[in-house]
Amino acid sequence: MSNMDRLIEVIAKLNTLYNSIVKHDSGRILGSMTTKPHPLAIYSYLLFIHTNLADTVMYPELIDLKNELQKDLSKYYGEISELMVTTGGTESNFTAILSAWKNRGFREKIVIAPDTVHVSIDKTCDIIDCRLIKIPVGNKPVEPDIVEEYVRKYNPFAIVITAGTTERGLIDPVKAVAEIAEDSGTYLHVDAAYGGLIIPHLYKHGYVNQDLYMYDGVSSITIDFHKNGLTPIPSSVLLFREKEFYEKICYNAEYILTNKYCGLLGTRPGASLVSIWTMWKYTDWNGYEKLAMDLISKAYYLYDKLIEIPDLIVYKPILPIVVFKHRKLNYKELLLKLIEKKYYLYKSPSLEALRIVVMPHVEKKHIDEFIEVLKEVLNSI
Ligand SMILES: *Cc1c(COP(=O)(O)O)cnc(C)c1O
Repeated sequence: MSNMDRLIEVIAKLNTLYNSIVKHDSGRILGSMTTKPHPLAIYSYLLFIHTNLADTVMYPELIDLKNELQKDLSKYYGEISELMVTTGGTESNFTAILSAWKNRGFREKIVIAPDTVHVSIDKTCDIIDCRLIKIPVGNKPVEPDIVEEYVRKYNPFAIVITAGTTERGLIDPVKAVAEIAEDSGTYLHVDAAYGGLIIPHLYKHGYVNQDLYMYDGVSSITIDFHKNGLTPIPSSVLLFREKEFYEKICYNAEYILTNKYCGLLGTRPGASLVSIWTMWKYTDWNGYEKLAMDLISKAYYLYDKLIEIPDLIVYKPILPIVVFKHRKLNYKELLLKLIEKKYYLYKSPSLEALRIVVMPHVEKKHIDEFIEVLKEVLNSI
């Protein structure tokens, strides 16, 4: 077989695969927090796809971009001493906890968090061998008084709270917990992987009663751009309040020009930073505000349609996440029936319910189509 034949064969195979694979445009990806990246973000990503963000001696221009992004984000999220680009909320959360331990290692090797915390924190504690103590919150934002009680009782090196929980979109009280962290000298990490780009806007417009900000006492915040930021996977930022938090997770590596690697990864995509910078500059704070308004209004549109369906229990959206279940039918069974129809929802196991995340690719017509399919499925049972 010639090179040309192989090329034709491989491309044919790729196209077949591409045609069969489910796409965001179809409106059937309703549970995942991924979305269709913006064409401009893809362009910028491809343009810089060869760059390694660990090598900032070779690519000093990337440092300039990072500094500019850091300055811009500081305007809205408060004082940031170091912005780290990561591959997602999982890496950001791991890195934050690692930093917390490096900086607060004199405390007990314990992390406290509401039991709504993302699984990446369980994973992190498994890897670095810390004890994760979960505060039972019954799917509500955590009470600051209870956090204070746990801090006094356990003397943890870190507290993790979430601004936009994965299963329900709950926002823990960032400001009140920050005060507790400040008074007790505990590292506070705020996981805003999903909610980070929308909460400040929904707060401004009165949809939610908690804001997201680097209040005194907050040590780090993570915000995924590959969720509501419309950049390609992988792209997230971890914002550190103090330079020290970043520097303590750097490791000597004299063979590279920077002499060190910081955080978990070695070679890492410069393209992620470039696409985040690009979307941030292009969309602008006002553009993300419009997007947030659009998402929440579509979430309410979906909510209004769902509550019309008999025997459904529907949870009112906080962020653009709509959770529902059937009074009689097990949620996992319902999910399987929907997957048979090629609709991909996710679960909210803590509520024994299904979950739809209204991401930027979800349009009203997709919601209408889904509602029809759901009715059909329920009628067939
Ligand atoms: C999505 C999410 C994560 C994990 O982020 P990845 O980008 O998937 O690694 C962590 N925490 C919360 C609250 C999330 O929504």
